[in-house]
Amino acid sequence: MILLNPKTQKYEHLDEKSRRIMLNTIEFFEKKGKDKLKHDDHERVWYADFLEFVKKEKIFATLLTPSGYGEEDSRWDTFRICDFNEILGFYGLCYWYTWQVSMLGLGPIWISDNEEVKQKTAQLLKQGAIFAFGLSEKQHGADIYSTEMMLTPLGDGAYMADGGKYYIGNANKAALVSIFAKDSDTEDYVFFVVDSQHENFECIQNVCNSQNYVAEFALNSYPITENDILSKGRDAWDASLNTINFCKFNLGWASIGICTHALYESITHGAHRRLFKHYVTDFPHIKQLFTDAYTRLVAMKLFALRAADYMRSASPNDRRYLLYNPMVKMKVTTQGEEVINLLWDVIAAKGFEKDMYFEMAAKDIRALPKLEGTVHVNMALIIKFMPNYFFNPDQFPDIPKMNGSQNDDFLFNQGPTKGLGGIRFHDYNIAYNSVDLPNINVFKEQIEVLKQFLLNSPPNEEQQKNIDFLLTLGELFTLVAYGQLIIENAKIYNIVNDITDQIFDFMVRDFSKYALQLYSKTSSTAEQMELCMKMIRKPIVDDERFETVWKNYVYALKDTYEMNE
Ligand SMILES: Cc1cc2nc3c(=O)[nH]c(=O)nc-3n(C[C@H](O)[C@H](O)[C@H](O)COP(=O)(O)OP(=O)(O)OC[C@H]3O[C@@H](n4cnc5c(N)ncnc54)[C@H](O)[C@@H]3O)c2cc1C
Repeated sequence: MILLNPKTQKYEHLDEKSRRIMLNTIEFFEKKGKDKLKHDDHERVWYADFLEFVKKEKIFATLLTPSGYGEEDSRWDTFRICDFNEILGFYGLCYWYTWQVSMLGLGPIWISDNEEVKQKTAQLLKQGAIFAFGLSEKQHGADIYSTEMMLTPLGDGAYMADGGKYYIGNANKAALVSIFAKDSDTEDYVFFVVDSQHENFECIQNVCNSQNYVAEFALNSYPITENDILSKGRDAWDASLNTINFCKFNLGWASIGICTHALYESITHGAHRRLFKHYVTDFPHIKQLFTDAYTRLVAMKLFALRAADYMRSASPNDRRYLLYNPMVKMKVTTQGEEVINLLWDVIAAKGFEKDMYFEMAAKDIRALPKLEGTVHVNMALIIKFMPNYFFNPDQFPDIPKMNGSQNDDFLFNQGPTKGLGGIRFHDYNIAYNSVDLPNINVFKEQIEVLKQFLLNSPPNEEQQKNIDFLLTLGELFTLVAYGQLIIENAKIYNIVNDITDQIFDFMVRDFSKYALQLYSKTSSTAEQMELCMKMIRKPIVDDERFETVWKNYVYALKDTYEMNE
């Protein structure tokens, strides 16, 4: 059973302390109950109860303090961080968000050389503090080159900060807000910390209508000293991108948690609803919708878990995580939207009801592809990896399941964010050739045509400048890397062949869909169009496989989880 069921999950894969954190968190939410959870969502209640629980159990202190700064069992361990992410997504995105933006805020601190701030941060974590990441501004969106927040040097190590930030989670209460700014004299980038409760910190408004506080704030001549500065120049720039590198990974996990809870609610509802003398789950299209939702969700989780292995084993010589992490951010989260779409088509009106978790899921799932860089920005990033991925593989030792309890040191020492085009990958054929399943074999043929496309009729000069064309090509590339890690992890997690092949049933269909989109682009050439048509394939039909997956794994989820009232 790869999907989380909070009522049966024992977290035996974790050490005692981590296990207690996960189980206690589940207990917190189950005690709170769905009625109160939904009430707080509707009334936009600040989650003081959750933060009190986090403080009491020292959860952020344990999970978000790297080794050496906190208590003995405090470490930054992505393996257990995945579990915590999933639980919070499962119960409500707002709880996940306060944790997520704390992580983001902590990133530039732990990356920096400022020992004084690091020691202070460790103390604040012990006291149950939350943190914030002040990068975005109202006018600039993804364009952080245009940052207008200014730090003005006053001499003798004194500075004054002025400017506004927008969309900054936790900034109403954060003990420290990491602020990205420019030096007003040199225009160099700089990261420094401020206290959200300082009198020169003006919290203007919550720009969102939610339980979260997503602040607009201003620093009005806020006094800063050298001791508050985390990094300057290139280091500050790298700290912002390197923080996002490992934090955007969490977005996929929030999607996985949301979809898992929504799946339990939906299958239980569908299986008990009787229409026209049939249960809804007897209709063939409903079986298809549920089976697609389930296999997409299993694929999301297999991929995200495997991406964690590559992130945990990364080093200056192995930066493959820089492809897989943006994919957890944009592919897993958009697949999450797809899962909710499929489930909503089944449960229809029920998905609007105020007492359903689903009503929250349907809204919240939309956020994840859009935060920490949009899908486009992440796709534009990974397209840089395509030539080396397909045509210039390198040798790497096999990466096992990275479930050890070490601190993920490298995340805070990722180094310069340059040179993405030079990053090499292991040969994707190793994974694809390691299995002989009907739909994987069809998928391999589709990949071969894509390779021909890239070799024989690659994007011309005009198409290379056209992000619209490249985004669709990027979707095809993404599918290849997505499938690769799914196959690698299906082995590690002993996923039965029927499920893996059913996953590649939708993968073949998705490949065909994007091939048709590429075919239809205004600038596609006759040669490109011909190759696109060759990429369009039908999955191998196997009724027995489908029925096995449906009965034994999907329908079998009915009545297996319901949140306490
Ligand atoms: C609820 C919420 C919470 C948030 N929390 C925080 C926070 O705590 N801290 C923080 O700093 N920020 C936060 N943000 C900001 C968030 O990270 C940005 O909203 C997000 O990165 C997208 O930026 P944007 O919405 O301004 O889009 P824009 O940057 O305005 O983009 C507009 C369009 O242009 C496209 N585009 C832009 N640049 C490119 C490019 N280079 N290549 C291809 N396409 C491009 C985008 O995909 C999009 O379609 C939050 C936002 C929200 C809504």
